[in-house]
Amino acid sequence: MPHPVPQPKQAIVFRNGIVLTMDDVHTVLPEGDVLVVDGRIAAVGNDLAVPEGTYEIDAKGGIVMPGMVDTHRHMWQTAMRGYGADWTLTQYFVWYYLEHGMKFRPQDVAAGNLISALDALESGVTTTVDWSHGLRTPEHGAAAYEALATSPGRFVLGYGNLAGAPWEWAQDPEVRRLIENARDDSRLFGAQLAFDVPGDESFPERPAFELARELGIQVTTHAGVWGATNDNGIRLMYENGFMDPGTIYVHAASLGEESYQRIAATGGTVSLSTESEQTCGQGYPPAHALRRHGIPASLSVDTSVWFSADMFSAMRTTIGADRSLEHYIAHQSDQTITHALIRVEDVVDWATRGGAVAIGKLDQIGSLEAGKLGDVLLIKNDDSPTMSPILNPYGHVVYQAGRGDVDTVLVGGEVVKWGGKLVAGDLKGVKARLEDTVAYLEGALGDETWKAGMNPEIPEVEILHNPYQYRKEGSTLSR
Ligand SMILES: [Zn+2]
Repeated sequence: MPHPVPQPKQAIVFRNGIVLTMDDVHTVLPEGDVLVVDGRIAAVGNDLAVPEGTYEIDAKGGIVMPGMVDTHRHMWQTAMRGYGADWTLTQYFVWYYLEHGMKFRPQDVAAGNLISALDALESGVTTTVDWSHGLRTPEHGAAAYEALATSPGRFVLGYGNLAGAPWEWAQDPEVRRLIENARDDSRLFGAQLAFDVPGDESFPERPAFELARELGIQVTTHAGVWGATNDNGIRLMYENGFMDPGTIYVHAASLGEESYQRIAATGGTVSLSTESEQTCGQGYPPAHALRRHGIPASLSVDTSVWFSADMFSAMRTTIGADRSLEHYIAHQSDQTITHALIRVEDVVDWATRGGAVAIGKLDQIGSLEAGKLGDVLLIKNDDSPTMSPILNPYGHVVYQAGRGDVDTVLVGGEVVKWGGKLVAGDLKGVKARLEDTVAYLEGALGDETWKAGMNPEIPEVEILHNPYQYRKEGSTLSR
């Protein structure tokens, strides 16, 4: 049985864990302590002296690391978790943009946000950018906002509206007020403006860029998405002078060299959603291109309408895709890769520190260093054979551990997960709201449409003629 949860505001020390600090030089303490006092990290080191009354957590046999940061998650879509597991991007666009996105009421957007917030937190993601493009009306915006502000964890509201034109909704005074409030509300962790630039030569997106600049917030944009946004979008942003430092380019696949050069030169970062890029066809996950151009990376899970909502999967698929490509390209010229370029340490960086860099908050989160906010994970599971031995801690985080091994999560020094169980938020209440949303949507679509949406047709596959025949005439062997 886990020990009693520490009291609110109680100082906490993790003792004798493998500490991945993710500081500038990625200091690793093989048996270190992390002390959190008054919501902030007070010290990281060995055999730390602690204030009286400090709660001691035995981290031996576990890994202590910074809370993870997700830079692009369409939280509202978690209300449809897993529904589109067999979709293509085209089917997604049709379902959300053309057919059913407009059916989501403000409370449905909120329900998705509420469950997604707890989902992120439970998996060790302490900061999430809600790429909230279901905000069809200011009422939807207010509902999304309220859901984030009242959820445990840190959230950046990326304000967007897939149903409208950014040059229109960004000029709505009510929307502007919501974004300003989100930016300044201490219950949130800032605001971003979320919209795409498909490549209209007249650059109608200008007012949206101007608003972001005026409010001093970042722009986050799906860039390099095959069939949707491409080099033209990047070029137009560049030529019009809006590739501001800090802009987050989501996916950034299927782009030419010049676009990567422009991103690198203007101080942008890329949010890799590898499960998404692999499944939807935005283009090949571009970690290789970021490496070549020196572009900083962060990771994201995109949307749970298809994908897993945890950064363990994001790290694993990202490193797998990059290594897979490296081998594949080498094999084309009869070469063998003997040393991998991408390392487990890289993707752990992108899942923590890289995310903090991307959202401009490295001074507050992203590493375990004295003075930073007390967002800390303990990955430890004494009942799991997979958690021993831990020889290569970065490798263990990426390839061995999973969200079920996240034992403890602190946000600002407050315990939100304890003994492997979520202890913050109201999961039961959120599930009830979610049930209402799912029932409403199912009803609004009707049984047949609901089922058809989940089961897209499978294209015919021709089975090639095979000159080798193993089967005897009249054999009934079949699939
Ligand atoms: Zn996205």
